[in-house]
Amino acid sequence: MLILRLSQSGNPVAWIDQNQAVTLYSSDQVLWQLGSQIKTVYGGINHLGERSHVNIAPIIASRGDNHHGLQHAPLDNRLLFRRDNYHCLYCGEQFSHSMLSRDHVIPKSQGGKDSWTNLVTACKRCNHRKGARTPEEAGMPLLAIPFEPNPFESMYLANHKILQDQMEYLQSRFSNRRNWLVA
Ligand SMILES: [Zn+2]
Repeated sequence: MLILRLSQSGNPVAWIDQNQAVTLYSSDQVLWQLGSQIKTVYGGINHLGERSHVNIAPIIASRGDNHHGLQHAPLDNRLLFRRDNYHCLYCGEQFSHSMLSRDHVIPKSQGGKDSWTNLVTACKRCNHRKGARTPEEAGMPLLAIPFEPNPFESMYLANHKILQDQMEYLQSRFSNRRNWLVA
């Protein structure tokens, strides 16, 4: 399982693995924690013959090293398709990854950028039909407005195996109009 690391003020910083979490606990950097799905990790045996252990919560807020926060999700197809929940934003049908493509809403040939707000998931058929035209020119209106994920949404997009506690935490800060982000 991955642990959701937060800054002191509760903003998502990164997904970290169990070893990184143990390091934060054992160096006394965990300020507060959330979630009921506690995982106990056992370490070595000390001179009293006691086995050390660390109880890891699914969400931990820590001091230090928070400036590496995941501010912007990388713009790869995996995250883009996930943002749009594998729906073609032109015909509205859901497809598998291999049937999908990224479409520039405003075509690159017309100055359209590689940005979250100018890229949408499109099935290959719709993408081909639209060609190098805007939705207006092609008569193919968008079914949803493309958006740039906020840090909470980015964290959601970056991890496929999110625990219930983590999901509830992240979802509480999803934008309202983005409820189609989650299946
Ligand atoms: Zn389509």
